Formats: sequence, C-alpha cells, structure tokens
Amino acid sequence: MSELAVAMRTLGCKVNRVEAEKVAARLLGSGVRIVDEEDASVIVVTTCTVTAEADHKARKAVRHALHLPQEPIVVVTGCLASIDPEGLATLGERVVVETDKEAVASRVASLLGVSVDADAIVPRTGEGFRTRAAIKVEDGCDAFCAYCIVPFARGVPRSVPLDEVVAEVAGLVSAGVAEVVLTGINIGRYASDGAGLAELMEAVADTGVRRLRISSIEPGDVDGRFLAAVAGLPAFCAHLHVPLQSGCDRTLAAMGRTYDTSGYSAVLQSIREALPHAAITTDVLAGFPGERDADFAETLAFVRDSGFARLHVFRYSARAGTVAAKMAGQVAPKVRSERARLLRAVDMELRVSFEKNHIGSEAEVLVERVGTDGLAEGTTREYLPVTLDGEGVCPGDVVSVRLTGMERGRMTAAW
Ligand code: SF4
Repeated sequence: MSELAVAMRTLGCKVNRVEAEKVAARLLGSGVRIVDEEDASVIVVTTCTVTAEADHKARKAVRHALHLPQEPIVVVTGCLASIDPEGLATLGERVVVETDKEAVASRVASLLGVSVDADAIVPRTGEGFRTRAAIKVEDGCDAFCAYCIVPFARGVPRSVPLDEVVAEVAGLVSAGVAEVVLTGINIGRYASDGAGLAELMEAVADTGVRRLRISSIEPGDVDGRFLAAVAGLPAFCAHLHVPLQSGCDRTLAAMGRTYDTSGYSAVLQSIREALPHAAITTDVLAGFPGERDADFAETLAFVRDSGFARLHVFRYSARAGTVAAKMAGQVAPKVRSERARLLRAVDMELRVSFEKNHIGSEAEVLVERVGTDGLAEGTTREYLPVTLDGEGVCPGDVVSVRLTGMERGRMTAAW
C-alpha cells in the first residue's frame, strides 16, 4: 500500500460523480495515486441522501471502508454529510466529515502531508477519466418539491461563472475530449452576469467542443430562447431529459411541481418543433402519497402516449425532513413496487419502439470502449447505446455509422 494512495467511493447522482472526479483530479495533480479501496490509505466516500435507502447505503459504504484491514482514514462528504455530519462522525474514530465540497481535496492532501492548488482548473482527462467529461455548472435548488431533500442538502442555486465554465471546457477540448455534458442540480437556474442557460450553451459551443449535452432540464425552463439557442448549435446533442414525475395533475399539484400535464405536453411539442429528431427522456415517481389507482392509471397512459425514448422509474420512499414524508395517504410498499414494475414495463416498450424507429438511419457514435472481443461500444447523439466493429477505432473517436438492428439492449451498427 502506497502512502499517497486514495480511493474514491461515490454514490448517488451525476453531480456527485463530477464533484468526486474533480477531487480525484486535484489529488492526481499532487502526486497522489487513485487506487482500489483495499489499497488506499484514505478513502473518500461521497454520499447521497435522496432517499432513506441512499442514507443506508452511504453509512454502509463508510462502515465497509472502516473495516478494511489497512485501517484507512475515511473522509465523508456529499449530501448526507451536509444533512447529518454528527451522525456520520459517530460511525468511527477514523471518520473525517468534510461538508465543504470545495475543501475535500485539500483536506485529503493535508491528511497525506501534501498540498493541492485549490484554485487550479484541472483538465479531468487521461487515466481514470472518460472520453465524455461532465462538468458542474450549477449547484443547489430552491424549488422545494414535496418529496425532495436536495434543497436542504445543497442549498439555493449557485452558478459557476461563465468564464470559468468556458475555460474548463476549452481545457477539455484541447486535451482531446470529444463530448462535454453540462450538469447541475437544476441547471435551468443557471445565472452568471446576465447569462442564463441559453447564453451558457452558446458560449460553451464557441470553444469548438465537438459534442455538447446537458444532463437534465426542468419543464418550466424549456423556453423559446433555450430551444432557439440549442437548435442553432451543431455541437448540441439532441437529447433532453425533462423530469415529468407524474402524468396526473392531482399528483403533480401535491408534489409541488409547477406544471400540469397539458403544460408538460406543450413543452414536448415545442421541443419536437425545434428539434424534430430529439430523444426525450424523463423521470417518473411511482407511489407518491395520495396517489390513487386512478391517478396512477393516468400516469401510465400519459407516459405511454408521450413518445419518450426512455423512462427512469423511481419508487417513492419517504425521506425524513421533507413535506411528503408527513403527508397522509402514504402508499403501501407493495403497491409502490407494483406501480414501479408497470412503469418499467412501459419503459421497455418505449425503448424498443424508439430504437426500432432508428434502424436504417445514419448516426454519429462516440466510441467509449473497445473490448478484447474486437467489438467497440459507444453512444449516439440521441444517447442510444451502440455496438460496432472495433477494428481501427479507439475510445474518443467519433464515427459515422448506419444503425442496422437491435441486440441485447443495444443497437448494432455498420460503418
Ligand atoms: S426541482 Fe424539485 S426534485 Fe429537482 S432538485 Fe429541485 S426540489 Fe428536488
């Protein structure tokens, strides 16, 4: 075990992954090696607290790290660390809770006796990083949806200044990264010196980045300005993830969402007018308190008719500290599970139909992996997973293909 050996254990969402990658990149710049947990003298656990189950997993990850024979120091950060630092600190003497995410790298470095340049913009490429780089442009949310703990864990929206985002993307582009994903907790709230998300996208596209996406956008933020901006950017990958959560107006109102189903349908229509080939994906929450069978049936019908490319289905679970956890009419766990199962079945139908519609069409694939079996895997601009002949391609290559069929949940392609 090397003294300067750190392991990263990251739970939860894409924003957590981006934050953890940044910590790792800063540490790599100080001569630290990123290793498996079994070989690490410090383990950084980046926690999530979105559900009671996420809390459980976070504590389990900390306990697991503490029980490793080399007795590592366990630095705990992320959303659960913000909500319950004292509770985490009691898990063991070797636990160090760091609630300030920007301070994690320097905290780890000081535990190892080295220093990091906290202000350095580190291109997160090379060993351990992906062909596709995600960067965080915004943190926090003030929407206070009834089921969500995020505004308590991450606070109100804060944006990374536009020139910093542009500089980071320019660094990634010159390091050879083909695709950049702008992420945040609620990136429709992006605001920097009069620039909103549309202006940010335009400025980022000016760096010459080959492919550009955003991780997710709330329906209320998909406005004419945003759609006109992205429709005019050749780099923009026409895939929008627009969380729906429920296809029943009564449930949406109880959730504290700011739109109803007709408003959401209007958003879908405006996306399809501006970006006719866009893949639109969404989140749906099954079994919110008070959701009756008839309400759920409305959701099921709405998602089936919507033409989504893919659903991300979540089974509601009460999160202490949220409004929904105290609501009457909590749905029995068995019913929640059954509703999630029915939604996943619709997801499968939607995926197959979206993919079938693409058979025979041209697509641009970013190669992510080339296996020892000679096959390469990559992703189209619409976020379709593709398997293709890997001869002569490397991760990071962008190739034009014709989609030929579907096999084991992926599209096949010829080029
Ligand atoms: S928009 Fe709602 S669900 Fe999304 S992070 Fe904000 S409060 Fe949570």
